[in-house]
Amino acid sequence: PTMAHSKALLVLENFIGGKFVPCSSYIDSYNPSTGDVYCRVPDSGKEEVEAAVKAAKDAFPVWSSKSPFERSQILNKLADLIEHDLEAFAQAESKDQGKTITFARTVDIPRAVHNFRFFASSILHHVTECAEMPAMGCVHYTSRAPVGVAGLISPWNLPLYLLTWKIAPAIACGNTVVAKPSEMTSVTAWMMCKLLEKAGVPPGVVNIVFGTGAKAGEALVCHPDVPLISFTGSTLTAQRITEKSAPHCKRLSLELGGKNPAIIFDDADLNQCIPTTVRSSFANQGEICLCTSRIFVQRGIYSEFLKRFVAEAKKWKTGNPSDPTINVGALISKEHLEKVRNYVKKAQAEGARILCGEGVDPLALPPGNQKGYFMLPTVIAEVKDESCCMQEEIFGPVTCVVAFDTEEEVIERANGVKYGLAATVWSGNVGRVHRVAHRLQSGLVWTNCWLVRDLNLPFGGMKASGIGREGAKDSYEFFTEVKTITIKH
Ligand code: NAD
Repeated sequence: PTMAHSKALLVLENFIGGKFVPCSSYIDSYNPSTGDVYCRVPDSGKEEVEAAVKAAKDAFPVWSSKSPFERSQILNKLADLIEHDLEAFAQAESKDQGKTITFARTVDIPRAVHNFRFFASSILHHVTECAEMPAMGCVHYTSRAPVGVAGLISPWNLPLYLLTWKIAPAIACGNTVVAKPSEMTSVTAWMMCKLLEKAGVPPGVVNIVFGTGAKAGEALVCHPDVPLISFTGSTLTAQRITEKSAPHCKRLSLELGGKNPAIIFDDADLNQCIPTTVRSSFANQGEICLCTSRIFVQRGIYSEFLKRFVAEAKKWKTGNPSDPTINVGALISKEHLEKVRNYVKKAQAEGARILCGEGVDPLALPPGNQKGYFMLPTVIAEVKDESCCMQEEIFGPVTCVVAFDTEEEVIERANGVKYGLAATVWSGNVGRVHRVAHRLQSGLVWTNCWLVRDLNLPFGGMKASGIGREGAKDSYEFFTEVKTITIKH
């Protein structure tokens, strides 16, 4: 690039001990909707992680001894500051990630604000346990203390949303943190660093080190002074993190991928079910761990469902993410787009039918977006359960629709994958809804709705979808160490 060109690039810096620190090397970051490099992200490694962990360790004694109320006020202030800049954050998230401006404005940034407010409030309401033993003249009680420096690693699909879902509970509990966002979506985390001082977050309490997983991420996972790692990302990376952290016996929370089924019985209210299932398949370009990617429809309504579902999917407009009327933005990267497209090709080669989208319908893009990573919402039918499209996480705007006959059969088929994150059940029969929900191997089951969340309740996956849960009580337990104390009187 020419000097003039490189000057126009946004250059991020690490945030360590309350200061922005430049890095010796940088990674290019692309705008997925244009295919242009527009930002440089620090390519941090051991040295930067070392400095950040040291800053976090130094800040721990003072921060951990503050009262929950003091910490709560600081979290609320930070929430207010992000909310004040909501539009700027939403614009940045959309540009960096490729998601639509509408999604960033209504989901990502409001949820990041809410994460801070939620944990600012919930931290005030925990009580610990107590058990009496009168015959022994003893009383036992538990106390909970922050663990120390928390290592937080987050993915690219919901950048600020998922990062703050970890930072908020970690610091509310009195830990200090070193966080590493995805190298592909680092901008909003960097913007948030600019607000920390004004919110009253002391230097060193939140440190952000930017860079790749292999370099910066692994340095954090391997650091002996980071006793706890909260990770959201792919199952493959989680395996690597588990291996690398094993010598240190680290506490791990792992929120991983999914292959989420929707089960639609013949008594379902299709007027509700169809638009919701289109949304659960294609929201955020299908790049949400909770997105539906296997739709099981009872045979009696299968053809009607398919016809109406495809018609509804075709209403979703793909294009420039900054256009507020667009429903589907750009995928995160060229490589990811290629990977998602390949799944559609494989399905076709296996004899499945592509009912709409990729390779079937024309994709018309505005002139500025011709080199962006776009793909139409794609519906695949007549695909076999053992096909990779029905077994592997695609993480794009692709969903498979298949028919089933009985309740027993569909439960077995829905459970027949390695993942177990989220499932959706559609039926007007309340008995059946409960029966099926209990038998699904899934950390979350939504019936007759999707993505309705109360942050108080546990969130997380079974099987290859994760270990541990996050939520008001669950995150509190993860980010604190419990001690049982016995007093004899
Ligand atoms: P990823 O595993 O490639 O990367 C996630 C993060 O881990 C990134 O910050 C990355 O830099 C880092 N990383 C990569 N290798 C590492 C290593 N060896 N050591 C330490 N850190 C490393 O995942 P992704 O592609 O960014 O995100 C998509 C995945 O995340 C999908 O599988 C999706 O289902 C999953 N996800 C799960 C949830 C959930 O709550 N269960 C939520 C969102 C996304």
